[in-house]
Order: sequence, then C-alpha cells, then structure tokens
Amino acid sequence: MPDIAAWNKCDNRCVMCTNAPSFALQDSGQYRLKGQIGKLERYLRGARVYGKNADKSDYVSLTGGEPTLHPEFFQLVSYFRRRLPGTPITLLSNGRRFADRKFAARFAAAARPPFAAAIALHGPGPRVHDAVAGVRGAFSQTVRGLRNLLRLAPELRLDVRVILHKKTVAAFPRTLAFLLKEFPDTSRYAVAVIHYEIEGMSETNHREVGLEFPASAAALRKALPQIRRFRNFSLYHFPLCRVPAELRPFCRVTLPREERVYPPVCRRCGARKDCVGLMREYARKFGAAGLRALP
Ligand code: SF4
Repeated sequence: MPDIAAWNKCDNRCVMCTNAPSFALQDSGQYRLKGQIGKLERYLRGARVYGKNADKSDYVSLTGGEPTLHPEFFQLVSYFRRRLPGTPITLLSNGRRFADRKFAARFAAAARPPFAAAIALHGPGPRVHDAVAGVRGAFSQTVRGLRNLLRLAPELRLDVRVILHKKTVAAFPRTLAFLLKEFPDTSRYAVAVIHYEIEGMSETNHREVGLEFPASAAALRKALPQIRRFRNFSLYHFPLCRVPAELRPFCRVTLPREERVYPPVCRRCGARKDCVGLMREYARKFGAAGLRALP
C-alpha cells in the first residue's frame, strides 16, 4: 500500500519538512473523508490513484501535513481500519494533538491493531525541538502526547522518530538520553533515527539543515552508549558503509527503489542487497565520496 496524504495542513513549520509550501496551499476539500473514501475504494478495485510507494501492498502510511488535524480524523482512522483489516497502518504525526487525553483515548479506540503511530521528536528540550518545529510549546505537547499514547493506547505500536540534520545532530545523544530518562521502559516503543531527506522545505533551507554522512555517523558513534540501551532501534536512509560497523545491523532499506542510487563503487560491494544505497537527492547534492565496498 502506498503513502496516503491524509490531510494537507500542519500546525508545525518544520525546517526540514519534505513538503513544499504549495502542498499546504491546496484546497483541503479533496482530503475530506468523502474524497478519501472514493480514492481508497478505487484503489481497492485496482486503480493507480496513489503516488509514493504505490507498489507496496503490505502496509499503509497515513501522512500529511498533520493527519490529526483532519476534521473527520476519527472517522478516517476507523474507515481505513475497517477497509484494510490485517494491514499494518502507520500514522505519521507530530504528536501534539495527543497531549489532549480525550483525543488520545479516542484514537486508541479507533486505531485497532496492527496500527502504529510514528511521532517525531527533534531534541531533548524545547530549545532544539521548538526551533526545528517552528512553534513555541511544540516540545511540551509532543512529549505529553507520547506519554498519553503510552498510557492510553497499550495495543498501539509507538515509534519515536528522530530526524538528523544540521539543527538536531549536536543534541542527538542528549535526545536519546532524554527518551531513556522520560520513557525508561524501552519495550513499549521503538526508536527510528532518520537521515533527513532533501525535498520540499529541507531543500529550500539547505544552508540551515544540510548534513553529510560523516557528521551524522560521528553523532551515532557518540551516542552508542545510549543506542545500546534501546530494545528496538533502527536507522533509516543510512548507507551501510557510512555508519560504525556495530550499528550496521540496525540499518533498514527504507526508501522506494526510484529514490535511491548505487554509485559504481557499489558494484563491488558484498553488502549491496542489504543496503539502501544513497538517497538520489543526497547524491546529487553531496556526491558519493566516502562510500567503500564492504566484504
Ligand atoms: S558501497 Fe554502496 S552498497 Fe556497499 S555499503 Fe556502501 S553504499 Fe551500500
């Protein structure tokens, strides 16, 4: 199943957002429940109505914008759950609306398993997180949201996503330390650390967020003591040869094939089939220097 844009507005203004501003300016009418139902029903009859990851049939991602701002959010979640029984659904969210206990409880009731919420945390406190999110108070709401989901939605799979770029990389070990202190039972949630994608606002804000793999690998190395304490830890979008050897088992092949490239050095690499390669836009922006074939 593909990525499905559930709603095109957002209450954060993240500096590395992969959407262009034109997305939020679209008429939201097309994202209302009636339109979403029409689209999914056409998809289930075999029509190609979705773009990204359209060829994937084993999971659905509800993206945005911020899906929780959808005026018919709970009906939308219930509808997708009912029409896709057994298919894992992941809601990508900034987590802020779950700071409201009633909202979190209603979501927990509608999001029957297999259902996951992937919540982005940008830093260990408001100074880093709110600067990335572009909204004062976002950190406090996101953390309360995480707390509520852990308390009120025991059947939900919870993923905390930390996106590495120039504005988050220095604080990264402290971000993990914050999670370990605030949410010490690491069997209750998973952590995914993502090298940022160059698209939309992150491309526009390249000077502010641009980060190359040597810098993100150094941050991963520094955070090894914290990383080892998480039960379920993953790395997205990292070529295997650019991370410390002990972290390679955590790397996942994450992006659609058309968004990845394998430069010539990869032809000699014994790890290629398990490696995401380079993000196409990363290769265009930074080149392929530093990749090395693994045995
Ligand atoms: S050389 Fe290419 S295939 Fe091998 S680990 Fe590096 S990026 Fe991946």
